[in-house]
Amino acid sequence: MTSTLLSNIGELVVHAGHRNMSDSALVVDHGRVAWVGPASEAPPTDRAIDLGGRAVIPGFVDSHSHLVFAGDRAPEFEARMTGAAYTAGGIRSTVRATRSASDDELTTNVARLVEEMRRQGTTTVEIKSGYGLTVDDEARSLRIARAFTSETTYLGAHVVPPDADPAEYVELVTGPMLEAAAPHATWIDAFCERGAFDADQARAVLEAGRAAGLPGRLHANQLAPGPGVQLACELGLVAVDHCTYLSDRDVDALAQSGTVATLLPGVEFSTRQPWPDARRLLNAGVTVALASDCNPGSSYTSSLPFCIALAVRDMSMSPSEALWSATAGGAQALGRTDIGTLEVGRRADFVVLDAPSSTHLAYRPGVPLIWETWADGQSVYQRTPTNGGLRG
Ligand SMILES: [Zn+2]
Repeated sequence: MTSTLLSNIGELVVHAGHRNMSDSALVVDHGRVAWVGPASEAPPTDRAIDLGGRAVIPGFVDSHSHLVFAGDRAPEFEARMTGAAYTAGGIRSTVRATRSASDDELTTNVARLVEEMRRQGTTTVEIKSGYGLTVDDEARSLRIARAFTSETTYLGAHVVPPDADPAEYVELVTGPMLEAAAPHATWIDAFCERGAFDADQARAVLEAGRAAGLPGRLHANQLAPGPGVQLACELGLVAVDHCTYLSDRDVDALAQSGTVATLLPGVEFSTRQPWPDARRLLNAGVTVALASDCNPGSSYTSSLPFCIALAVRDMSMSPSEALWSATAGGAQALGRTDIGTLEVGRRADFVVLDAPSSTHLAYRPGVPLIWETWADGQSVYQRTPTNGGLRG
């Protein structure tokens, strides 16, 4: 393995509190960040790359996605945009499509979405099951996801499938389905919401998971106030996701427990729900992460730059805070200490922006600013510059 110096960096974001604005350099060696500092003091390396004043930021850590599915739900989106409300029940149409898809079709779709993420700067992704909802289909979804990431999450408790009895289904999720899923899963999750699972059911799922060696995470307080955030904090979960409707008690519990609040603004964009109040959480000392929730129903975006732009524009996060939440915050939401920042010793997962500073992520929304993505010290995506002009 060769050591590489990246120099002439316009802005180097080691983490949100450490942004070097001029002539910064970074050395990558053996897949790790080996050195950061002013270019004039850089150690000798095997090769050097001049980044021409572009910014370098940590790779995005997308701690919440649902990539194992078939089909899409564009008509449902169109109906919502012309006045229909979002309900958890739409998940069932994706369950039908996913069950009837082949392994190859599901794998091809995950590969397409992971590639889409890489092109937008994501270097770590968590992937959930939850569109199978049978013993075999949940195990198969997780097995497929595992080929792409070590951060796989068993979400048999996504919704109660059509025609199933809720109590019997929870027994299946906490029994034979858990047993089949556990070898392929790192985490367990549940959707605690009216129309999905109540607090007692979610607790049963999370406790069974913990007993099987799977720590929990939770979908909660997305569509209305509810007991999910309190439950997550009481159980000491690493993260609770959505957090759109929070009481003062919920905010206090998050601040005291240290459970990360993962906000998913692609969902509010795509369902026309109110934005989660990031400012209130940050002011209370809660750790906030941003993730895509990429799924075909409520948030069909794989772009963390887009989520950052929404968080800055509509959720009162500063550009630095939003970037931290989509990198270091995502890493904390996955309990990871090897990724999320560019401190020496961390994994060399980073993004070169075709812009002089990370502020451009929100300042230039919708613009493809990812110049290059590096994962594990290797370039895994590079934009090919073209000379062609637009036609008249
Ligand atoms: Zn989700």
